[in-house]
Amino acid sequence: MKEQLQLLYELQQIDTQIQADETELAELDDGSSAEQALAQEEQLYQQMQQDLAATQAQLHDKELQLQGTEDDRESKWSQAYGGRVSDPKELQALEQKIAELDRRKDQLEEETLRLMDDVETKQQAVADNEAQVHQLREKLQSIQQNYRTRTEQLVAELTGLRQRREQLPQQISPSLLQQYEQLHQRSNNLAVVAVVNGACSGCHTSVPSNYVTRLENPTEVLKCESCRRILVIPD
Ligand SMILES: [Zn+2]
Repeated sequence: MKEQLQLLYELQQIDTQIQADETELAELDDGSSAEQALAQEEQLYQQMQQDLAATQAQLHDKELQLQGTEDDRESKWSQAYGGRVSDPKELQALEQKIAELDRRKDQLEEETLRLMDDVETKQQAVADNEAQVHQLREKLQSIQQNYRTRTEQLVAELTGLRQRREQLPQQISPSLLQQYEQLHQRSNNLAVVAVVNGACSGCHTSVPSNYVTRLENPTEVLKCESCRRILVIPD
């Protein structure tokens, strides 16, 4: 009887382990959501880079306009005060033009500075985003690596467990096996439990004190009085 109960206990542990492995395998993260997060971040990175390039082009354009305005002003100034203009009206017109160019120059300088700030901010944002992309890529690789390794482990373990699961019932008496199958269905997939520190490890209720001695050399099947599961003291 003792050996039969030990085999039944082994059967229970195998069934429990198979169930745990199958659940883990089904719930294992294959990295799809991390992949999606990475793709989104990469898309954002492209958009931000394009936006930065557009602002840089605007800045370049504004700098050229500023240079042109400065050149223009310099040439008007030389014209006005180079000693060749004697007509006061012509001089007045040139001075007006110079004043106009000065205002234009101030405005362009202001816009250039604003764009420079803008470029700097966007460069920082692009750099931050690039770091984020890098981080997400590493995270994805680690998830995928873990998925492959753990899948391999679980598949190998399940193969071994299922082989043993096929052999075991041949060594157990049909009536005991039938009790097991019925209890297994009824008792939340847990039919055989160990007595640990004088208590049933299925429902944690204390078992009668003489059970422990009787279970050390069992002559019959003893069940927990509370949850009706088969009790064993594992070897
Ligand atoms: Zn119990």
